[in-house]
Amino acid sequence: MNRTSTTDAIILRNSRIGDIHKRVTMLTPDQGLLSAIAHGAYSRKGTLRGVTNPFCYGRCYLYTDPVKQSVKITDLSVHEFFPGLRESITRFYSASLWAELLLKTFGGGGQSEPLFTLLLSALRALDSAVDFSPVTIQFLWRYLETGGLQPELDACAACGRRFPPSDHRYYDSRCAGFACSQCTDPAICPALSPGAAAYLAHSGGLEFSRALQIGLNAAASRNARRVLYRIVQDVAENPLNTLRIGGSLL
Ligand SMILES: [Zn+2]
Repeated sequence: MNRTSTTDAIILRNSRIGDIHKRVTMLTPDQGLLSAIAHGAYSRKGTLRGVTNPFCYGRCYLYTDPVKQSVKITDLSVHEFFPGLRESITRFYSASLWAELLLKTFGGGGQSEPLFTLLLSALRALDSAVDFSPVTIQFLWRYLETGGLQPELDACAACGRRFPPSDHRYYDSRCAGFACSQCTDPAICPALSPGAAAYLAHSGGLEFSRALQIGLNAAASRNARRVLYRIVQDVAENPLNTLRIGGSLL
């Protein structure tokens, strides 16, 4: 067994072990979610203290102890810190929402490399975003695609009828897709407006930074977020704490 290894990583979560050690959970391109111990990272003099915080992106050096079956971080060379995430509470909560979603769905169930690339693109965009909304919409919509979970926008998931351009689509958990008003109860299923649907259909196929240049009015943006939050919580099979705590901001 190769005891030392290196990987690119984006830190998603920290938790405390004892007084000074840190358990670090990160997304990697080739191993999905990975958990490792950063010894002394909570002590004032710990060399890993400042480089193992959430959303740091860098090259992580690991040592695997085959006897203890534990992995520790020996060094982390940070490429990007994303300081802009800590300058805005909506940016920070948005990134926290993505991290919670990835942690609760074990990397989305799909391949980890596209997910890693997606998260990195989204963090770079969010770091300096004036408006967090299009970034979080693009992240969540593409996250669903990466995991093969993106609902069909063209036709009703229940009856197969194609949606006329002016129709709302109703997200129905029972079929994990968008249904027409005939097949579902519009009173209880969140409606995706025609404008928001057209935006997702058009922008979802574009390169990430190009998609952020596509205009979306505030009402359609809010609508798309609300529907996506419902869908990803369905995927997570649980309410997301970030939305419970920071929902009014997001
Ligand atoms: Zn239908």
